Amino acid sequence: MNADLDAIDEAAGNWLFAQPCVFERGVTAIDQLPAADRPEFAFAGRSNVGKSSLINALTGHTHLARVSNTPGRTQQLNFFLLPADKHGIFLVDLPGYGYAKASKRDAARWNALMIAYLRGRATLKRVFLLIDSRHGLKAADEPFMQTFDESAVSYQIVLTKADKPKPAELAAVSETVSAALRSHVAAHPRLISTSSVSGEGIGELRGEIAALIDVASLGYKR
Ligand code: GDP
Repeated sequence: MNADLDAIDEAAGNWLFAQPCVFERGVTAIDQLPAADRPEFAFAGRSNVGKSSLINALTGHTHLARVSNTPGRTQQLNFFLLPADKHGIFLVDLPGYGYAKASKRDAARWNALMIAYLRGRATLKRVFLLIDSRHGLKAADEPFMQTFDESAVSYQIVLTKADKPKPAELAAVSETVSAALRSHVAAHPRLISTSSVSGEGIGELRGEIAALIDVASLGYKR
């Protein structure tokens, strides 16, 4: 088995994500960021990729992140505290990008805020870049991947809506995305396939996060 997979502890991840999680704040300007005093994990992706649904599935909440049929509505960096009652981690829901109907000025403003955040956040442990498993990488994803590479921000691709494509289609998209990642220095080589509908990959993603922090210090006992 691959060493990375060995490091993933789904039990620790499931314990972590069973803790209460609360919305901490929404950030629309860089000076509103909370103190960088704990590990942070951010979720990025094109509008409608399934980011709100994934955050809700991870945390076991139905409404923590807003699931919307109006893409482009999440226009701020949303910070969630996990566990709510301990000095735990921040989960950060970044604004969805690439929404065709957003005005160019608005889109440029959110992107500038996101990029300033991504470049300057020392406590950011990993960005999960969400990609729709039916579509693979799109042109709008490329500038973000370049920013991560240039700023040495560790990132990992999470395929969403894995319940939708047929297994052979999912395998083909995974292969194409994996091949594209080889030229991106800051990309984690392994993809995680997830579905917020079937629950596939949710435990794995929780485990991935738990493996990057000290869960024992938060009260987890093996
Ligand atoms: P966001 O804009 O990235 O936050 O995306 P949402 O979470 O609001 O989801 C966009 C649309 O995709 C909604 O209609 C969701 O119900 C749907 N969706 C999200 N995740 C999944 C999934 O895992 N499987 C399926 N079949 N649909 C999903």
